[in-house]
Amino acid sequence: MRSVSGIQTVRRILKTARAAGTIAFVPTMGALHEGHLSLMRKARRECDFLAVSLFVNPLQFGPQEDFEIYPRDLAEDRRKARGEGADLLWTPSVKTLYPSGFQTTVEVSYVSRLWEGASRPGHFKGVTTVVAKLLQIIQPHRLYLGQKDYQQTCVIRQMIRDLHFDIRLRICPTIREKDGLAMSSRNTRLSPAARETASLLYRALLTARRYALSGERRAKPILQAALAILESAPSLKLDYIGLCDAKTLAPLEVTTSRAVLLAAVQTDGVRLIDNIVLRPRTMMDK
Ligand code: AMP
Repeated sequence: MRSVSGIQTVRRILKTARAAGTIAFVPTMGALHEGHLSLMRKARRECDFLAVSLFVNPLQFGPQEDFEIYPRDLAEDRRKARGEGADLLWTPSVKTLYPSGFQTTVEVSYVSRLWEGASRPGHFKGVTTVVAKLLQIIQPHRLYLGQKDYQQTCVIRQMIRDLHFDIRLRICPTIREKDGLAMSSRNTRLSPAARETASLLYRALLTARRYALSGERRAKPILQAALAILESAPSLKLDYIGLCDAKTLAPLEVTTSRAVLLAAVQTDGVRLIDNIVLRPRTMMDK
């Protein structure tokens, strides 16, 4: 595995790799866990060359957010990426990707606006700007993202389409801890007590889905079923929970054949997001 930081070196390595076969790309912010590694494994199986980037992107953090204290462990990340058979680990610096005088950003309008976009103004603009830059430099055949960040997958899919990137998007399932908590680099910052209540987020989503699959189609009672669980832990602060169209992310009053529940909470000052795709009974019965 080559571990490099400069753009020209990356371009050189990728040029040779592209001539020899297909390129897979897994962008990350590091503090690698099983969720990231599952993406790398799938990418490794499907392509000839695996490029992984590791960059804590300041542009996607708000001024009051956790950019400074975001977990970082380069030595351990190197070991893990090598263990998964990555061919390239790219760790650009902030100056490399955002040299002084940089002026261009990429923004996806509609699908970025709701949910995470509403709670974290500018977040997706930061995400799409950095991902567009990374894609432009790596030029992979396939891009691997986790369903854990559901809205992010929708936003990036839209960007790929709108900017005519010739890339196949691969969405990988959310990897969870035994109690259902979605793995996240931020989980390391949870106190033992907060770690316990954090698992309520997925439990709430599962309960809401079960309710929907039992025949309830109205969004209000479905969401209420989830809220009852979240509200059982006063230390869990709800940011949002919504039932929405799986593609456009527009809020739904009743479930359809393509609906997803999205939720975000805070506990102990740590922000957690999760989601679950619903399949109404009519679909399951088919
Ligand atoms: P991050 O380092 O948090 O920016 O995540 C990098 C990539 O890993 C994104 O595509 C995430 O959706 C994905 N990812 C993060 N956590 C998980 C998880 N628990 N399961 C699957 N994919 C994940």
